Amino acid sequence: MAHPLHDTIVAPITGLQSAAVAIVRLSGPQSWDIAQKVFSPWPETVTPRLARYGRFAHGDDGLALPFAEGHSYTGEQSVELNLHGSMASVRQLIEACVAAGARLAEPGEFTYRAFMNGRIDLTAAEGVRETVEAQTAFQLRQAHLLREGALKAAVSQVRDDVFGVLANVEATVDFSEEIGDLDRLGAVGELDSILHLIDDLLATEESGRLVREGFTVAIVGRPNAGKSSLLNAILRAERAIVTPIPGTTRDTIEEWAEIHGVKVRLIDTAGLREGEDAVETIGIQRARDAAQNADAIWYVYDAQAGWSKADKDECARLPTNTDILANKSDLLTDPPTRGRPISAVTGAGITALLEDLTRGFTEYEVGIAINARQAPLIQSARAALKLARQTLVDDIPVDLSAVHLRDAVMHLGQVTGETATEDMVSRIFRDFCIGK
Ligand code: GDP
Repeated sequence: MAHPLHDTIVAPITGLQSAAVAIVRLSGPQSWDIAQKVFSPWPETVTPRLARYGRFAHGDDGLALPFAEGHSYTGEQSVELNLHGSMASVRQLIEACVAAGARLAEPGEFTYRAFMNGRIDLTAAEGVRETVEAQTAFQLRQAHLLREGALKAAVSQVRDDVFGVLANVEATVDFSEEIGDLDRLGAVGELDSILHLIDDLLATEESGRLVREGFTVAIVGRPNAGKSSLLNAILRAERAIVTPIPGTTRDTIEEWAEIHGVKVRLIDTAGLREGEDAVETIGIQRARDAAQNADAIWYVYDAQAGWSKADKDECARLPTNTDILANKSDLLTDPPTRGRPISAVTGAGITALLEDLTRGFTEYEVGIAINARQAPLIQSARAALKLARQTLVDDIPVDLSAVHLRDAVMHLGQVTGETATEDMVSRIFRDFCIGK
């Protein structure tokens, strides 16, 4: 990104759709001066965080809320201007601000400045993006933890511990005459407990991925078993998440739903049977692939028709964690011979089915969870610590272990940002949208 920090930037910080109210933010050393040119009456003496009602130069009316340097989102002097949320009004105010000396903010630039000014670390910046984009209750909770610094605290703790070992090692290198040799065994012990913490952090990646990207359920079964009816029954009962899904094909239908706070991707597949023609065969192959790649698989069969040899053969091709659902149980007088009874028509059994599906999430509180950017950095830190440990165990000169320890410190610092390169930082903010 590498944008200059001395100019004053402006952008709407609310959505780019007409709404009752919109907010435009000015941030940078000229913010109050520029606000004075586009809003009146601007107070003689500004009281930070006190909103004032007034009129904008382009005719709209609304509020101006000033923030002092060091006490704003970006850490800079800034002003939030509340106006009516029409696109025309927002555009005219922005044009007036630009005419008065502001520059249009790049995507993510407010949060970039907050990072550059030391208000937040990189993990909190990622937390801001995740908060803004959260669709489900669990995503929101995970984002709050990130934004509020829970991961930063955990990573910094590990980094401090590594620093502690490094300081010992370096002291024995520099002052071996005075303090004698390094207590190698002690250092190895400390590295082992650090590695333990690192492994705990790395173990959070999977749950983080499931919360962030969603949990995939493939609904498979023979034609007319009731797969589409089941999907529709769930979407009616739960909160459907409307997102454009790339790659939806004619023969697999994907829908997203929030089930008990968890983002779940439901894939309704083509009916499984020996393909009649080439197109159908492709659809069936896709259904089998979807099942192989899913986090959970539901094999739906028509319980009124009964469990057939064809069902048995199909099920044998599916992964062993497949759950068998005896659908149309409303038409049965006796319990089904196989699987868990449900009815897509009456809804019987579906609540319990969904509870079991999301139990893994809802039974424990979502904790901090590392993301796909952070995981490889923490892996690299782990590898460096392992090397440091090995040099200590192997009785190799201790200054070599110092090299590896410094490496680990650097990788951990890239998670939070202290040692992140310009390129790493810009990659994070590139994913932000305008006004963040
Ligand atoms: P799919 O080919 O597996 O997607 O099956 P559909 O969802 O299209 O359902 C096939 C037929 O079974 C439709 O006529 C549905 O109304 C009916 N059906 C689906 N689920 C149930 C159920 O639980 N009870 C009853 N009585 N009929 C069902």
